[in-house]
Amino acid sequence: MACGGGRGQAGAGRAAMALSGAMRAARGRCARALSSAVPPAAGTGATRGTGDTRGTGATRGTGDTIFALSSAPGRSGVAVIRASGPGSGAALRSLTGTPEPPPRVMALRRIRDPQTAESLDRGLVVWFPGPHSFTGEDCAELHVHGGPAVVSGVLRALGRLPGLRPAEPGEFTRRAFAHGKLDLTAAEGLRDLIGAETEAQRRQALRQMEGDLGRLYQRWSHALTQALAHLEAYIDFSEDDNVEEEVLTQVRVTVRALLQELRGHLRDGRRGELLREGVRAVIAGPPNVGKSSLLNLLCRRPAAIVSPTAGTTRDVLEVALDIGGYPLVLSDTAGLRQATDPVEREGVARARDRLCQADLVLAVLDATSVSPTPVALEAALAALEPPLGTPCVLVLNKADLLGGHRGSPSATGAQGQGPPATLLSCKTGEGLEALLELLTQQLAQLCGDPLLGSPSLTQSRHSRHLGACAAALERFGDLGDSGDLAVAAEQLRVARRELGRITGHVGAEDILDIIFRDFCVGK
Ligand code: GDP
Repeated sequence: MACGGGRGQAGAGRAAMALSGAMRAARGRCARALSSAVPPAAGTGATRGTGDTRGTGATRGTGDTIFALSSAPGRSGVAVIRASGPGSGAALRSLTGTPEPPPRVMALRRIRDPQTAESLDRGLVVWFPGPHSFTGEDCAELHVHGGPAVVSGVLRALGRLPGLRPAEPGEFTRRAFAHGKLDLTAAEGLRDLIGAETEAQRRQALRQMEGDLGRLYQRWSHALTQALAHLEAYIDFSEDDNVEEEVLTQVRVTVRALLQELRGHLRDGRRGELLREGVRAVIAGPPNVGKSSLLNLLCRRPAAIVSPTAGTTRDVLEVALDIGGYPLVLSDTAGLRQATDPVEREGVARARDRLCQADLVLAVLDATSVSPTPVALEAALAALEPPLGTPCVLVLNKADLLGGHRGSPSATGAQGQGPPATLLSCKTGEGLEALLELLTQQLAQLCGDPLLGSPSLTQSRHSRHLGACAAALERFGDLGDSGDLAVAAEQLRVARRELGRITGHVGAEDILDIIFRDFCVGK
């Protein structure tokens, strides 16, 4: 029996939105199919250039001219096909039969197959001569009608031109990185912006793409470079008394301040990562209290089986939701009880496992079987054994059965005497607005405001390098006044290298493939 009446559904429509797919899985899953619509690059006479300014370790040279559909595949009003590389201008001339239009001005052109002279479409073309383009190279864009036959016809025509080949996933952005148009954090921001499914995710990604995080790391790197220069000057010249002792003191002050700032940044409670990947919330509670009904109510479809028989949920069911602009990955789990049936026991074990990994717990209780006093609620919650320190929201479900005996849910957590609690009826939808509000508050607390304060770190890759950077700075501090200054200088070099690996300015070749692989073709 599916649960959730019309009132509830309408309420959920205002603040909770089912996201288009499992958030994390959706990333990088954009269609690569279109590259199969064009002939392989082999035999096109493509040159393999070496003009890679950052030694990106690209699998193919940037001397090739690459092309791809940059808008989403499928039918659409308009599709955008991009080309980048030295042959872009010639390609545009070939397909339009006219010279390139003035830079960065859209021009209406008939687009034809240069081999057969057959007209493929009439569309808008734009010419971006390098370096004033996204990639820094000569680029061309063709805005054509978004029918699959039009798109594949234009891609096929481009593929037949000498020196042109289909782009690999993320290759446009990788070229932009190679030409110094963006650093790695900005490239990651761009990837996140394309993947952003909620408002808060979009804000964070845009901020990162525009360079806020990169600038922060650059500032730290610059401070380290200066400190290192002063330390080296002290090592080289102090014996001649040309460099004063004070220089060394200043270096120590700089490093200490930097370490403090870095630790604060690392301590931000994984806010940026949570926002990027979605907060993992687990619905937990005894059997039959309405956990599956709650999941269905929030995602507005009968995703989970609802049944009056206890112990029906065994597998963990996961849905991605947008709650008030924040991403939530919500799991429904088996009812927590001493199970005898081996399948149910496995379900309970999986539920416990999920609970341990949760960023937020939605503890569901039957409002008719628990007294709404803080002490009783705390005891009922403790019986579920939620992980220590993980925020919880208490949902007292089946409020419709309370009749006139209802206590106010605000009598509990809202007064600071335990986790926040709210009354709900999955059956009638009563209390849904309050629950969504409560969830939004919790999510805002966990993810923070992505536009406020210093930018959050968004990737575990960043925290790894920042951790190594902090460790090197700590070792520098541990050396003390009597330590070997050459060893101290080496620690500053290590710390700077770790920061450089985040932005891609130093030794990032080995991770470029991993980062750009997650981009779609055409990005
Ligand atoms: P779970 O085992 O905790 O996942 O609970 P279910 O969602 O499967 O629901 C168990 C039973 O409670 C089903 O018969 C539901 O229809 C019923 N139920 C769920 N929510 C409510 C509610 O708010 N009010 C009432 N009266 N019944 C509910």
